Amino acid sequence: MADTFKVMAFGAHPDDCEIKASGIASKWVNDGHEVCFCSVTNGQSGHHTLKPEEAAAERLIEARVSAEKIGVKSLVLGEPDGYLMPSLEARAKVITAIREFKPDLILTHRPNDYHPDHRYTSQLVQDAAYTVQVPNIVPEAAPLDHNPVIAYFSDNFQKPHPFVADVIIQVDDAKEHILDVLMEHKSQFFGWLPHIAQYEIPVPDSDDERREWLWNYVEERFTNTTERFADLVKQRYGNKEVKYTEAFEGCEYGSPLDQEQIERFFGAY
Ligand SMILES: [Zn+2]
Repeated sequence: MADTFKVMAFGAHPDDCEIKASGIASKWVNDGHEVCFCSVTNGQSGHHTLKPEEAAAERLIEARVSAEKIGVKSLVLGEPDGYLMPSLEARAKVITAIREFKPDLILTHRPNDYHPDHRYTSQLVQDAAYTVQVPNIVPEAAPLDHNPVIAYFSDNFQKPHPFVADVIIQVDDAKEHILDVLMEHKSQFFGWLPHIAQYEIPVPDSDDERREWLWNYVEERFTNTTERFADLVKQRYGNKEVKYTEAFEGCEYGSPLDQEQIERFFGAY
């Protein structure tokens, strides 16, 4: 393998990286690249019947088991879900995690997002851009000798400016991998989310039915980017039929997601 690289995705909660980047992650791992899904918080809060410590314990397992399904590493930094602040302590944790894994590419939320934990995860990653190379900041962990590229997950928020895809990847052929991952986040997709979002169709009992039911609820996320960035899809894939996509936007900090880097990380797909 000529050029293998490492990708670290930072989500606020166990299930964020998974819903935003499992398709491309499965492709990367398949080609020998290393991927780590890092949840900054412990997922303790988002559940209607589990106590905080029960939910956190459950989500730690779900994060690990789901990541194993596609050969991705899993890391949970353990900040309290729903209470994340872009504090110096949290920044040091993020810097340390990045320095230990040494990613070439980092993915995370955009800084404008409905959930404070998503916003502050983005802030923390931005705060680590550049400082991961500065030796006297968090001196216990050796600084990186390179500045990773940073890119954002897609979202639908419009203010102060909407997400603009710099790269779009078809994941039609990764649908089953995506489902393998999401199916393991049972407390989210079969517990909390149907409860809080008041899904109309109740959660089925059998795994086969659940798989179909789950795709029914998440499918729109993967057709949404295809439709919004149809020109980019056309430019990349020509007349090939593409239904499902994942899209990413370069962050201004870190190394830029320029054409050379897009080719390096995404060119094979
Ligand atoms: Zn989240």
